Amino acid sequence: MTAGLPLERELPDRVGVLVLGSGLAGCAALLAAAEAGQYAVMLEKTGEIGGSTVRSAGLSAFAGTDEQAEQGIADSVELLRKDLLETGRHRCDETLVDLYCEHQLDTYRWLTGHGVRYGEVHAASGQSVPRSHPTDTTGMLHHLLKAAGLLGARLLLDTKAERLVREGGRVVGVDVEAPGGGRHRILADAVVVATGGFSQNPELLARFAPQMEHALRAGGEGCQGDGLLMAWQLGAGVIDTPYVKGTYGIYHEPHPDEDGTGILAVYKGAIAVNREGRRFVDESLPYKEIGDAALAQPGVTTWQILDAQVMAQTNDEVPIYEFAGRERAGMLVTADTIEELEERLGMPEGSLVATVEDYNGRIAAGDADALGRTHLSGGVGAPFALDQPPFHAHPSGTVVLATYCGLTVDTDLRVLDVFGQPIERLYAAGEVIGGFHGAGYMTGTSIGKSGIFGRLAGTRAAAEESELEW
Ligand SMILES: Cc1cc2nc3c(=O)[nH]c(=O)nc-3n(C[C@H](O)[C@H](O)[C@H](O)COP(=O)(O)OP(=O)(O)OC[C@H]3O[C@@H](n4cnc5c(N)ncnc54)[C@H](O)[C@@H]3O)c2cc1C
Repeated sequence: MTAGLPLERELPDRVGVLVLGSGLAGCAALLAAAEAGQYAVMLEKTGEIGGSTVRSAGLSAFAGTDEQAEQGIADSVELLRKDLLETGRHRCDETLVDLYCEHQLDTYRWLTGHGVRYGEVHAASGQSVPRSHPTDTTGMLHHLLKAAGLLGARLLLDTKAERLVREGGRVVGVDVEAPGGGRHRILADAVVVATGGFSQNPELLARFAPQMEHALRAGGEGCQGDGLLMAWQLGAGVIDTPYVKGTYGIYHEPHPDEDGTGILAVYKGAIAVNREGRRFVDESLPYKEIGDAALAQPGVTTWQILDAQVMAQTNDEVPIYEFAGRERAGMLVTADTIEELEERLGMPEGSLVATVEDYNGRIAAGDADALGRTHLSGGVGAPFALDQPPFHAHPSGTVVLATYCGLTVDTDLRVLDVFGQPIERLYAAGEVIGGFHGAGYMTGTSIGKSGIFGRLAGTRAAAEESELEW
């Protein structure tokens, strides 16, 4: 799949901006650099474009969009900023949060201007108003690559960047593993690292996030931390490693119909219980925090308990809310009563019944929830009693989808060394950077940050003084 972008077979010796990785961050950087008049070339180590981006649920967090206006959702950049800082427990790099806020709407307009379309907006983790904008990510990358191709940009598949090359204190190119084997050096005026995270590298996960030992893993097969390691070799700083978290809601074991995203019925009114039939978390929390809480439960696997009212909110266009699809795939345990469901799940007698009775009883009496749940997700939606049969249980675990920590960068997306100094002519964007999310995660900000920061990195890299004449 090259999406209309000419596929280069000959390895070039010299380019203007060299982009490593073909996810959203790389595609946005490539197009932005090409729009700035640079000869931009992208290297992708696998045979397919898209990395984790094309495996994702495709939700982007923007505020103040046309879709929100059409749905009557009042949002603002100030509210987005407040939510980002609060969700990140104020451990975020505020300058990067401000950068996201400053450029999110113009990037949204840039993307829609290139043909990207968004569907109905939903609320999810960390959002005090609905701002998850779903899109077809494969289509999105096609639009960007096609536009980049028309401006002369090129793509090399099956071409792995192995090492950054630095001369005279600045990055001057990359040594690559050529498709048929062998090494080749590509010189560039600037390099943008957009190689994604390391969710598919068990060794790096064990080093940086040992708490994820029992979590499942998802993400692009090429997402093994190559860019992180290459920049680290040049002295780059690495930040936010303590905050690598898994996402709650994935089916508890490999399943042919599991696309890696899981479901979040809890944000539509379900409760989460452990194998002892007890609730263990305020289900309105960001799903990374629910993921942590689930990993601490006996046996790790937990269940989301839905009734017919939750099931009725199924939405085939939003993977995390595609409950009926799970039922069709045989991934739900279903029963007419909570007693029967409890028995089918092998829970201690009376345990789930008591949990649901307590939950429903407090809602009916207007009493405080035992775990502090006041909304369904973030500040959106009111909890309701789970009393409409049939009842369903989705066995739910925690999965590392993305790693959220990574290289230190400044607001020009220049990679900073361990002393905070820019590594000249080296830029980074997307999942490979750290600092932005802090200690928590708002849905849609990983795709969001890949588009916003990828575009900025491409623009900034293109502004480096060129030694080439085109
Ligand atoms: C199942 C799932 C659901 C998700 N849902 C959402 C969501 O709804 N919203 C959201 O915001 N985030 C979501 N995420 C996270 C999000 O998809 C990623 O964080 C984001 O797409 C990363 O984009 P990227 O461009 O930085 O990296 P990627 O899209 O991962 O692209 C990186 C590319 O670089 C390539 N590469 C790696 N090393 C090299 C090398 N040495 N040389 C050349 N190429 C290299 C890789 O092969 C890959 O193609 C989800 C992730 C998963 C797995």
